Amino acid sequence: MLAEPVLLMGLIEACRATIAANSEHLCALDRAIGDGDHGTNMRRGCEAVSAENASVSSLPLPDALEKIGLTLVMSIGGAAGPLYGTLLMEMGRELRAAEEEKDFSSALKQAINAVARRGRSHPGDKTLLDVLYPVQDALAHRLPWTDIARHAERSAELTAAMRAMRGRASYLGDRSIGHVDPGASSCALLTTAICRYLEEYRPV
Ligand SMILES: [Mg+2]
Repeated sequence: MLAEPVLLMGLIEACRATIAANSEHLCALDRAIGDGDHGTNMRRGCEAVSAENASVSSLPLPDALEKIGLTLVMSIGGAAGPLYGTLLMEMGRELRAAEEEKDFSSALKQAINAVARRGRSHPGDKTLLDVLYPVQDALAHRLPWTDIARHAERSAELTAAMRAMRGRASYLGDRSIGHVDPGASSCALLTTAICRYLEEYRPV
């Protein structure tokens, strides 16, 4: 399903658009507990992927995901680049390694585990993992796209109650409590954009 070039092209654009629209919000979240550049970084990453949208979308899905991941690593920078990059590159590798049509959600699970190893972090550490794992779980349970999006948004909000254990925000200790994690927020925005697009997508 996801291998359709037109679909992938639309998803890339949907992700770019939501990050562009929320870039300032993400920077504001990052200013509260970090260095204030998350929106700018994510925007740069999405624009870099967008610039190669046509060529990337024509690749087989595993290759496309790896290419997008590599572009994200090189363009986002900061802590988020390697994490989002790892997620996409591992997704690509997992899907390629699959003998046949592998369950998308189990590939996602492996990729999220790789992100956790890369960031040496766990659920509850106030990172994008706190959105990724619930989203994967919702996907594994085959919830409707709108419900998966709602899970993502609620999960991002729940990071406000958490104490940051990783990254710059962790230096704040208890003062990180009360603020939504910027990475969790961008992850929820991207998930919502993807779910909304898939919900409305009708192959011609
Ligand atoms: Mg930052």
